Amino acid sequence: MSQFIASQNIYCSQLEYGDLLPIKKLAVQAFRPKTDNHILQGEALELWSKNSDMMVEFLLKSRDELKKFQLSKIRRLVDNAYRSVVFYRELYSACGYEEGAIASLSDFEQLPIVTKALLNNFDSSSIVNDCGFLEFANSSRTSGSSGRPFTVYSDDDDIILDHLQVMRFYNSCLQRPLQEDDWVYMLHHAGLAFSSLHGKYRTFQLPDLHSSTPLGEHLLHLRPRLLVTLPSYLPLILQHQSELKMCGVEAILTNSESSTQLERDYYSRVLGVPVFDEYSSEEIGMIATQCTHGLYHVVEDGVYLEVVDKDKSGFGTVVCTDLNNELMPLIRFDHGDVARQVSDHSRCACGSAATSLLEINGRRDDAFRTRDHQLVPSASILAAVDDILITPDKTLESFRLIQKNADTIELLTHYVGSPHKHMVDILTLLRVRLSGLFGYAVTLLHREVDVLPEHKSYKRRSIVREWELD
Ligand SMILES: [Zn+2]
Repeated sequence: MSQFIASQNIYCSQLEYGDLLPIKKLAVQAFRPKTDNHILQGEALELWSKNSDMMVEFLLKSRDELKKFQLSKIRRLVDNAYRSVVFYRELYSACGYEEGAIASLSDFEQLPIVTKALLNNFDSSSIVNDCGFLEFANSSRTSGSSGRPFTVYSDDDDIILDHLQVMRFYNSCLQRPLQEDDWVYMLHHAGLAFSSLHGKYRTFQLPDLHSSTPLGEHLLHLRPRLLVTLPSYLPLILQHQSELKMCGVEAILTNSESSTQLERDYYSRVLGVPVFDEYSSEEIGMIATQCTHGLYHVVEDGVYLEVVDKDKSGFGTVVCTDLNNELMPLIRFDHGDVARQVSDHSRCACGSAATSLLEINGRRDDAFRTRDHQLVPSASILAAVDDILITPDKTLESFRLIQKNADTIELLTHYVGSPHKHMVDILTLLRVRLSGLFGYAVTLLHREVDVLPEHKSYKRRSIVREWELD
């Protein structure tokens, strides 16, 4: 098969652009993570064939069984963190924790909540359980929506398990197992850990989508089963409505940005396929996924989720514990997200007894808009910031991007040392990327500040639109 790169024995799904040059141009921009190699693909494939039935059965466990499973995971996780991670050792010692002290989930919920800001005060070596392993670990350094760069380390086992949970979500959206020769089409700046598993369960990724992209033609060429996208691209996908209907896509999955149920229902109706939303984060991975009945069910074998400090309408802060990242434990980690939890714990009509969320908050109002009021995906802007400012540079302490008017964006930065390259070069790169996203040239202003100005309504926002639409 020509799509195999013989030297690495890797199937290269990005070569399936079907003689469409604009597709090829975008496809080559997709970033290939180092995890996407023959060995790890093979491990994931083997685990999927061995465990997928069991993983699917897990989704139908009773609430008692789910909580029992989580409690045993949590007891181990907390004790390990207390024993071998300096940060947790200090934090938990200070509140009198002793090994083996967790007998119930309510005991666990007494432990202090941890934030990015708190973790950022410590060296990497103090927040992982094995600093000798750090140089081999997978790391993702991101801006996140809070504007404070943050690095998460994880090992290969965690990456593989996250991937298998994503595949299981694909199965539930299709309501049947994804077949080995099925394609998944991703319109997303971030791809999966694996582009295929030895040429099976292939994904094709377009990291961006423009109004001139021949998406419809390419969909007819690949005939994918699933389309995974940022909600911001849905209006552009609508332009390829007839091809989408003909090519055999059975469901659309959205993630990374908030969208409303109303919007998703609209696109589902006009495109003729169900739209399922996923709630995930760079730090934790997949957190909750929507079922055919519209509820978000927590991925209980990946995360223990609490909604704390609820207000009258039931909205509260999301606190997550990653059950599988032992290298860098994130225990009772405050995401800064706000969600409304379903208080009734009876089984959903889909069969799930998992903790469920009704709604996850929107920061969408703040998204940038072009001069004709088109939405510019916040996730794409944050991806540009990640590539240009965050990933190469540990001296950037915080930043904020502010849209001043239709053509002007201001970047505020707070550096704690010199930037990795000249500011002029950084600003040029960023201006070009932003202009690409807006579809016309924008002006980028820059101000270095000692602290980001506090503003009540956007105290943890990194993307702010001050320009009012008329
Ligand atoms: Zn359900």
